[in-house]
Amino acid sequence: MHDHEFLPLTPIARAAGVWLYDYDGRRYLDAISSWWTNLFGHCHPHLMAALRAQTERLDHVIFAGFTHAPAVELAERLCRQSAMGFSRVFFADSGSAAVEVALKMSFQYWRNLDQPQRTRFINLSNSYHGETFGALGVGDVDLYKSIFAPLLIEPITVASPDCFGIPQSDWEAHSIAMLEPMRLCLEQHGTQVAAVIVEPLVQCAGGMRMYHAAYLRGLRALCDAHGVHLIADEIAVGFGRTGTLFACHQAAISPDFLCVSKGLTGGTLPLSAVLTHERIYAAFYDLYETQKGFMHSHSYTGNPLACAAAVATLELLEDGSVLRRNAELAQHLRAALVRFQDHPQVIDVRQTGLIAALELGPQRAEKVGYPSHERRGLRVYTHALERGALLRPLGNVVYFMPPYVIDEAQIDWLIDIAAEGIQRATA
Ligand code: PMP
Repeated sequence: MHDHEFLPLTPIARAAGVWLYDYDGRRYLDAISSWWTNLFGHCHPHLMAALRAQTERLDHVIFAGFTHAPAVELAERLCRQSAMGFSRVFFADSGSAAVEVALKMSFQYWRNLDQPQRTRFINLSNSYHGETFGALGVGDVDLYKSIFAPLLIEPITVASPDCFGIPQSDWEAHSIAMLEPMRLCLEQHGTQVAAVIVEPLVQCAGGMRMYHAAYLRGLRALCDAHGVHLIADEIAVGFGRTGTLFACHQAAISPDFLCVSKGLTGGTLPLSAVLTHERIYAAFYDLYETQKGFMHSHSYTGNPLACAAAVATLELLEDGSVLRRNAELAQHLRAALVRFQDHPQVIDVRQTGLIAALELGPQRAEKVGYPSHERRGLRVYTHALERGALLRPLGNVVYFMPPYVIDEAQIDWLIDIAAEGIQRATA
């Protein structure tokens, strides 16, 4: 909060498309989709109409013993459009809550199947899965985690396939090589492990670190070989962000649990879901007395307004035109980023779909970032705000994760602003 004495909060009065407007009429291009939630721009007419219509019918209703059409339609659409063989959906209200649900479901699945020794979770270094205790426990970003470490479950952490500093043409080979530590870990601990949890393709909060889909393919095979669940946390990367509707599609795999949130409602209301398979559901299905049911309930589970917004979001994604347009935009972004390839203080340039990142450091050749206390990213942030863009670097990582309605000229303008900001921050 002390920062805000020299960096005032930015009050936002309204928003439309890629733009946020403050009370004085100044506007800011939301280049990070308001923490990766917004897909189609702010106040998209189709989503707003769906919300308005739903407000006339049903605001909220307990989601135990009761149900409603938006939740049913959403569950059916999620299973159908994700096309990974899912038949069951559990709703929650934030990304973190979805991760809690997946962890608990995996854990209890093994209890229900009389394998109570499977109590451990494997995660990747530098991963992020949210900030409630369970989700924080399976994350690996010290900034959020270290102070609470004594209170958290202890995962077994395996080196990430992160391709930082590696040319994109070599990502596949590197990612495949990084399956080896996972293989060794599963060989050693596999019988005690309930699930492996990963962020498919991009470790977002860990600084937009990226890897090749071949890792996910190999990981699925390793999990199968050891009878371990795979939890795919697509909370940040789902719904077209990486170039396919889900990142797992690029590896042609189906995880045991798929966590989604953020873009699920197009960035309008909090909602999350865990998608899973019939065989998982079946392990919880029994007479009441057996107490095998899954006990996890949030008051706002399956909120009808949020579900209606999510159905409208899936409608917009249905015909594939958004993905085709995203591919064009991603191509444009890739070309625009070439100018940083030889920048002396940009130590890595990387991109997956509509996520692109520039990492800053004093020496290109050494590939080491600036010390975090220098807060170089903050200088890029303040410069961008002055120029009318919301870029919010993660430490040394300046990244772009714009709403899908951004256009080519706006991309170029953003890249210019980032270049100026980087110049100022590193001069
Ligand atoms: N998992 C991932 C991969 C995320 O990026 C995030 C949010 N940044 C979360 C989980 C947590 O979601 P929420 O903030 O909605 O709890």
